[in-house]
Amino acid sequence: MPSYENLLEKCRLKGLRKTKALEAVLKVMLKQEKPFSLVELEQDPVIKKTCDRTTIFRIFQRLTSIGLLRKLSFSDEKASRFSFNKDESHKEYLICQSCSDIQELDIGCPVNSIEKEIAETSGFAKMRHDLTFYGICKNCQED
Ligand SMILES: [Zn+2]
Ligand SMILES: [Zn+2]
Repeated sequence: MPSYENLLEKCRLKGLRKTKALEAVLKVMLKQEKPFSLVELEQDPVIKKTCDRTTIFRIFQRLTSIGLLRKLSFSDEKASRFSFNKDESHKEYLICQSCSDIQELDIGCPVNSIEKEIAETSGFAKMRHDLTFYGICKNCQED
């Protein structure tokens, strides 16, 4: 689990400018247990004080491009959530398309061996993947 200082350093190395807004977003991101939406983060008092939605949006884009955030897509773009890549390991997710509930899958990575094979045959290095499963959760099936 990285410290706030680690994160800030990582951002700096990738060319992000240290601003009050970036500091606030990183601090609040560290507290999130689950993937979060822009709107959810925006409601945090620390963020409210320091940045508006456009600023958060821009920071999210930068953090996604440097690999600190991963965007989980929903059919409704506004409902998109971001998962914070705290360390080198990654999570696979299961998302309900009806209520947008997100569950982390506790099965280990199902495609690790495929990834290795692709790396070997293609000669690619530093491989990564985004794997998300979609469906309708139990609660939503009952309605
Ligand atoms: Zn649901
Ligand atoms: Zn995986």
